[in-house]
Amino acid sequence: MTAASIAWTTSVLVIVVASVLLTVLVRQRDRARDELARTDPLTGLGNRRALVESGEPLLASGRGLGLLLLDLDGFKDVNDTLGHAAGDEVLVQVARVLTATVGDRGPVTRLGGDEFAVLVPAPGPGDDLEVVAKRLLAALSVGSFHAGVVPIDLQGSIGIAVAGVDGNSLGELLQHADIAMYAAKRSRVGVLRYDAASDPHSAGGLELLGQLRGAMDADQLELHYQPKVSGDGSRLVGFEALVRWNHPSRGFLLPADFLPFVERTNLIHPLTRWVLITALRQAATWRAQGVDVSMSVNISAVTLDAGLLGVVEEALALTRWTPSALVLEITETAVINDPEGARVTVAKLRERGIRVSVDDFGAGSTSLGHLRGLAVHELKIDRQFVSEMVAHPEDEVIVSSVIALAHQLGLVVVAEGVETLASADRLCALGCDELQGFFFARPLPAEKALAWARTEGMTGAAVELR
Ligand code: C2E
Ligand code: CA
Ligand code: CA
Repeated sequence: MTAASIAWTTSVLVIVVASVLLTVLVRQRDRARDELARTDPLTGLGNRRALVESGEPLLASGRGLGLLLLDLDGFKDVNDTLGHAAGDEVLVQVARVLTATVGDRGPVTRLGGDEFAVLVPAPGPGDDLEVVAKRLLAALSVGSFHAGVVPIDLQGSIGIAVAGVDGNSLGELLQHADIAMYAAKRSRVGVLRYDAASDPHSAGGLELLGQLRGAMDADQLELHYQPKVSGDGSRLVGFEALVRWNHPSRGFLLPADFLPFVERTNLIHPLTRWVLITALRQAATWRAQGVDVSMSVNISAVTLDAGLLGVVEEALALTRWTPSALVLEITETAVINDPEGARVTVAKLRERGIRVSVDDFGAGSTSLGHLRGLAVHELKIDRQFVSEMVAHPEDEVIVSSVIALAHQLGLVVVAEGVETLASADRLCALGCDELQGFFFARPLPAEKALAWARTEGMTGAAVELR
């Protein structure tokens, strides 16, 4: 071998070694970059991309796959009140608790914000996934989270979607688990499995939404009115308007059959407007006929914003109704979701003399603390406590404490779901200001409501305005 060929061979070798080395280095760098691209920098968990990349092969394997999507309830409060750094600190702790709780059942990923997902490969039969989900929520509620020295109570909602049944791609599973999670949050049940029948984007829900606009014009929507009477049952103090839909092919639909769909779309705004105008027009007609009482209208959480004020003004102007005889019933959810927004809107309504009632009080997770600074006028005790009050002494304790506390805050207390004379009597003895329920009357179509007021001798002449 000549010196030249030795040099040549050496340089070839050097080049080969160098390029192999380079390839290895590039691969390593790519892997590190890849790893980074699949990792959530805050918690070190996998991110959305990691979820998709680990999910696809599991889906393809056909061995079954469940997706749990978890969202923390009211986490915005933590960020808003304590700052984002504090929020981040808590999210890191949450990631740790979730990972420890899930164990080897599947990877936990963070999809962004306060949203986490768990992929459970080959889930067991029956309620296996629900069991895993409940274990996660239990771990959150007993976990000791803190931002600095401030202890943080956490709760979450989980939506479940199962491969093959609820979706065939990861995209579909994510979308459906998200819908189920949202429904779980709204109904405050903690965990829900996706249900195509109640998905507004599924065929049935879409069809209903498409028909709703027409229904308003075609007089298919109707309000029924349920009387509210004074605590001693002697006087009519108002009516609550409750919407119904006489659907041409599906029959008589109750709010639960269509409102959940409507509330997730912009159609809730024209519906709210229609209900307000129709209810106040009815109230004005009754006033002219000698039944002069207040009108309560339910306001969905999603519409409790600045836009509501304009719609209310329009309805008042169109019907020439007295603001102080209009009660807007809002739920605790509205207050929990956006406490500051709710406070501002409620304050403006109050300035106009309109009354605001907190509906279903006790059913959610608001404490009286949430009501601080909220210029509401009335508290409506949720019917779950009222309807069983006589049989269950614990319920009566709750009801009597709420009445006492609300009175100390200067609020009017209404009990809904009064179904028996016995409960009406107890509520009267406890000092409840107003009663509503099947014992007095069911929600009635307008003519029947007027007839009821007349035959019961309750024309509201002595309405007391607080
Ligand atoms: P809600 O505001 O809590 O209304 C009271 C519901 O309880 C009504 O159901 C009423 O029929 C029922 N109820 C009344 N008295 C009794 C009783 O003694 N026992 C029992 N078991 N139930 C009683 P409905 O009409 O099906 O309405 C359900 C929910 O739909 C309402 O709950 C309200 O949140 C919502 N809703 C109704 N109409 C409207 C509306 O026009 N707009 C909005 N945004 N929501 C509405
Ligand atoms: Ca109500
Ligand atoms: Ca209620």
